[in-house]
Amino acid sequence: MQNVKANLYECFHCKGEGTCLTGANGASCAACIKKNELKGKEFFGLICGSCGGIGKAEPLTERMNKRMAPILAIVLVVSLLALIFWAALVKSTHFSELLAFSGAIVGSIMGFYFSGKIGGS
Ligand SMILES: [Zn+2]
Ligand SMILES: [Zn+2]
Repeated sequence: MQNVKANLYECFHCKGEGTCLTGANGASCAACIKKNELKGKEFFGLICGSCGGIGKAEPLTERMNKRMAPILAIVLVVSLLALIFWAALVKSTHFSELLAFSGAIVGSIMGFYFSGKIGGS
């Protein structure tokens, strides 16, 4: 089990209940009926389509950040390495500056991701 601290908030759709009661007369709403892949008009106590029935949801931005950050870091590292390689190849006069600059960035990225701040999620 991973011990990742997630910044969860109470699901706004089901108000933390886990079941959708937002339709008419406490029935589940059309969106959740659709999410549960049911055909019909009135269902009660369906699993909330927004949070999947857990009553808690992760903010979308947080989910994006967790997925995007490692990808961005990898892209950045790869492109910087390519830049260094290219500078060496064309014998750029700025090679040493480029190497120092890229090295600092790559070093800080590596330090960030391998120091356990992200938690390997
Ligand atoms: Zn609903
Ligand atoms: Zn919910």
